[in-house]
Amino acid sequence: ARRHIIILPAGQSPGQKVVLITGCSSGIGLRIAVMLAKDEQKRYHVIATMRDLKRKDKLVEAAGDAYGKTLSLAVLDVCSDESVKQCIDGIKDRHVDILINNAGIGLVGPLESIPIEEMKKVFETNFFGVIRMIKEVMPDMKKRRGGHIIVVSSVMGLQGVVFNDVYAASKFAMEGFCESLAVQLLKFNVTLSMIEPGPVHTEFEAKMIQDVRQKEYPGADPDTIHYFKNVYLPSSVDIFEVLGQTPDDIARVSTVHCASSPRFRNMTNPWYTPIVALKYADETGGLSVHAFYHMLFNLGPLMHISMTAMKYLTCGCLRSRTISPT
Ligand code: NAD
Repeated sequence: ARRHIIILPAGQSPGQKVVLITGCSSGIGLRIAVMLAKDEQKRYHVIATMRDLKRKDKLVEAAGDAYGKTLSLAVLDVCSDESVKQCIDGIKDRHVDILINNAGIGLVGPLESIPIEEMKKVFETNFFGVIRMIKEVMPDMKKRRGGHIIVVSSVMGLQGVVFNDVYAASKFAMEGFCESLAVQLLKFNVTLSMIEPGPVHTEFEAKMIQDVRQKEYPGADPDTIHYFKNVYLPSSVDIFEVLGQTPDDIARVSTVHCASSPRFRNMTNPWYTPIVALKYADETGGLSVHAFYHMLFNLGPLMHISMTAMKYLTCGCLRSRTISPT
């Protein structure tokens, strides 16, 4: 159990906010941790957590001088009650000013081929993992009448995407949970807000591609496998390539978010605003379902051409334009 114990504040100065982030060994979590720890005004002491400290090297290297000063490491598995409790108990006075729920896993593929156990793992991490964290930290925040809880959701928490059924469901569940809890927390001066990235180039994307290559999709019929592999996947790769943001883009939004009075929902990629708007334009939902169907099955090849054209026309400058922290 000793490996869970961290003594804080090792390098914390008075007035510094304690920020705890989950899932910091890679991707968005790693970049948020580094950016906050390197804050020029040194406003934060970051506790960057991960399941296995053997995976700390990339983070430690990126943090440079900040490691041991404004950045500490701790073990935390969001799927374990014991691990979450031990981590929070190891923090001085259990005091967390800002909790950033970033840890999450993806799941993509034909529903017929995914065992229920695998789906439960997604909910255990993306949904119950966040709730487990909030339950551990929220009572102290309520008592102190202050604190900020951030949840890294996804545009897939606002709009379902074909073949991402269970992942989208886990993020939708999170959105509903947050929408409900935010009202109560406001009474205690605790802010709850969400960051909703579109596609981001992280291990998430790499894991998805690798997964698809390895899997056979038992249980799914040949037509479904064809639509998944030859229609959905090429579109998804195109979309990632053209509209994908970097983990730094998301970290920049999150840093602004930590410092200011945040909005409840924060999409990081304005390309997705019209997609979400479609949903609110037609409360029956028919418009979104048919628009997505049309885009995927009728306009697939056209989309590929437009995406390729966009990629060359914009030469990557699109990515920097898609950041909207305010
Ligand atoms: P990533 O795979 O690089 O990072 C996820 C991190 O969560 C990893 O470090 C992983 O080890 C950690 N993790 C997984 N299970 C955990 C557990 N039980 N306990 C603690 N840590 C655990 O991917 P990412 O893109 O950086 O994902 C971060 C968040 O962003 C996720 O919540 C994801 O749903 C969300 N998101 C990602 C994208 C994208 O396209 N990459 C888009 C929208 C939202």
